[in-house]
Amino acid sequence: MTENSKVLALKYRPQVFEDLIGQEIIAETIKNSIISDKSPNAFLFTGIRGVGKTTFARIVAKSLNCEHGIENMCKKKCSNCDAITNSNHIDVLEMDAASKTGVDDVRELIEFSRYGPTTAKYKIFIIDEVHMLSKQAFNALLKTLEEPPKYLKFIFATTEIKKIPVTVISRCQRFDLSRVKSDELFNYIKMIKDKEGGKVSDEALKLIVKISEGSVRDALSLLDRGLVANQNDEELNLDKAQSIYGYFDKSSLIELIKNLFSGDEKKVFELYRKIYDSGVDPKIFLNDFLEVLYYLKNINFIKLDGNNFSLNDQDFSNLSTISENLDSKDIILFWQFTLDTIEEINIVSNPNLSVEMFLFRLMRIKGFKEKDIEESFTGKNPDTLIKEPEKKIISKTIDQIKNVSQQEKIEPNLNKDEVINELKIDSFESLINLCTERKEAKLKYELETNTNLVSFSEGLIEISFNENLDKDFIKNLSNKLYEWTSKRWIISLSKNQGQISKKEKNKIDEKKIFDDVKKSEAYKKVIEAFSDAELINVELKED
Ligand SMILES: [Zn+2]
Repeated sequence: MTENSKVLALKYRPQVFEDLIGQEIIAETIKNSIISDKSPNAFLFTGIRGVGKTTFARIVAKSLNCEHGIENMCKKKCSNCDAITNSNHIDVLEMDAASKTGVDDVRELIEFSRYGPTTAKYKIFIIDEVHMLSKQAFNALLKTLEEPPKYLKFIFATTEIKKIPVTVISRCQRFDLSRVKSDELFNYIKMIKDKEGGKVSDEALKLIVKISEGSVRDALSLLDRGLVANQNDEELNLDKAQSIYGYFDKSSLIELIKNLFSGDEKKVFELYRKIYDSGVDPKIFLNDFLEVLYYLKNINFIKLDGNNFSLNDQDFSNLSTISENLDSKDIILFWQFTLDTIEEINIVSNPNLSVEMFLFRLMRIKGFKEKDIEESFTGKNPDTLIKEPEKKIISKTIDQIKNVSQQEKIEPNLNKDEVINELKIDSFESLINLCTERKEAKLKYELETNTNLVSFSEGLIEISFNENLDKDFIKNLSNKLYEWTSKRWIISLSKNQGQISKKEKNKIDEKKIFDDVKKSEAYKKVIEAFSDAELINVELKED
């Protein structure tokens, strides 16, 4: 592999303590302990992916074993450092516990530790993802950890410190590597972009920093992708970066939320479809939605500084304006709904629909609530709503759905009896009957075959479903219910099992009738007369 075709993360992998970004204090501590010959027998590095745990491990190994001593490390060529950099030093053993978790692997290691180092000062074991070791493996390791020979050093790295036995942790000196701060990471990838001669706008670099959440490796691999995708000498700007990384401009989401609160349904869906069409994953959308809710709630406590690349100045001032007219109860309700939907989209086949329904529901909640406020101000009791908790709002909302659906307008082409039946969709059964009446065969089929009722109340249906459910089912059912009742119903998908579907019930009923007939006297007589007769089907006569 030539130097230029190497991925950036490898090409720019720090080789000395001074190269490491964002971990200066830890680097200094370790350096001093090695200089004063007081380094621990076992180092334990923890932190999220890509903050430099294994890089640290190798630098520590080099600084322990460098021919020229730690203070002159890598200033002159030395075979120890070269070999450690290339992972082929005879005294430095690297092991990935993710692939070698067993007690035998550790025994081999311990066997290897019985003899002193061959060429270097120390024999060093680097164990990556050490939390993956089995319990027996840890136990086998513990003995050596307790009384290690002078020439032996352990360096562990892990993303999940909680999975490591306390007995092991207590034998190590622990170093918690922090996420790299946004402005530090920004300066770093900007420097690398310049070294690579790439053209990337600062805004695009900030997006990379945001997505990588403090992981240097992630930031470099995103920069890599951006540079590869942008080789025709144009600048990689924010727009392009957003489409490459499947991210979208927070300002369009803020615009959407603004319209959501002002109840402009058309605009909300227009904006959402635009976001969706640009390739944004519904899950990313919902997570960003949560993030904006968080900002709305806390806008007065947030400072625009070097640690925050999520908002630009314009976003910040837009959010401030929206939040001025906002009730924190709304935000709490919206927050809960968003969390529920994030869970829901894991089980539906078309998450996009769930998100549309989600936006729809939010607008309903908001709409009802505003009505409530109006009523409470024009009505007798102006303070009720403001003092009551969210619970009340929800129950009021449901009451309103009931009230409205019970005072329905009457469609002209139907006689009065039918209308009364129709307006009282008070059970799952009557919903299915209504589908039969209205010749909604497809809906009826889905309701009977592919869904299971979890709970039913007017305005609110909770169902579970199987994988055959039509992807447009919720949309269609919701449209029909609206058409029939002039009211938006909330249809929620549940992980609960629900009742058996009508089709399943029919099958069970049929089987029972079939079995009953087989046990009957009449059937016995037939069999006596015709011994090779076989019961194939049972038809019930009317009456
Ligand atoms: Zn060296």
